[in-house]
Amino acid sequence: MSHILSCSFGKDSIATALTALQYHEPLDQLIYCEVMFDETCSGEHPEHRQFIYEKAIPYFAERGLPTVILHSSETYVSCFCQTVSRGKGKNKLKSFPLTGRCIIQRDCKIPPLTAYKKQLPTDTVQYLGIAWDESKRLKRLKENQISLLEKYKINERAALQLCQQAGLLSPIYDFAPRGGCWFCPNAKTKELRHLYDHHPDLWNRMLALQALPNKATERFNRVMTFSEIDEMFRWEDRQLSMNDFLL
Ligand code: SF4
Repeated sequence: MSHILSCSFGKDSIATALTALQYHEPLDQLIYCEVMFDETCSGEHPEHRQFIYEKAIPYFAERGLPTVILHSSETYVSCFCQTVSRGKGKNKLKSFPLTGRCIIQRDCKIPPLTAYKKQLPTDTVQYLGIAWDESKRLKRLKENQISLLEKYKINERAALQLCQQAGLLSPIYDFAPRGGCWFCPNAKTKELRHLYDHHPDLWNRMLALQALPNKATERFNRVMTFSEIDEMFRWEDRQLSMNDFLL
């Protein structure tokens, strides 16, 4: 019987892998699906991607845990540029994914994971990084899915500490509450501000998409367009430099 861990390299999945190693739980592979912005640019925040490839994957490989890396043929840009086939937005670009029902998860993340799992023996056990105190998510576990963090009573806080102790806490937690794509419509303002400040190349890619005509929606998230967010940060910058000037 094989045992796999679906791993985003966030604190809970890393804590699960560390717990498996600590308690000699069977674990054969980490499975990581990298969402892509387009064919060459990752959807991971650059800091998190560097952590994954340069630190976390080698750490577990050295301890006998290989990582299988999966990609979908669909990307954020390919989903963005698909056209709506019916309804009010017919023939328009699907454009920005909805906050509540993100098609990036549906089209770029789940299919490669599902296809990979289908090739595995039917009795394969899948570990999921769900902490002991995430009772709602624990209730949704299916047959052959196990949370090692529940088994060893490790809550979210303890999971974070385990990662810190192992030197395996992703730098993404410096500016975001959890991992996710850098173009996520659910991103908090602090996360978007980080992108604006530190990754202008990625920021400009989103502004270029915003400039495309004939989109089904202009809004990046529930309330604002990407251009409006850009303008808001520019305004904040202007206020700061004015304050500096007056001091
Ligand atoms: S992180 Fe955000 S954009 Fe990426 S798949 Fe999840 S909900 Fe969608």
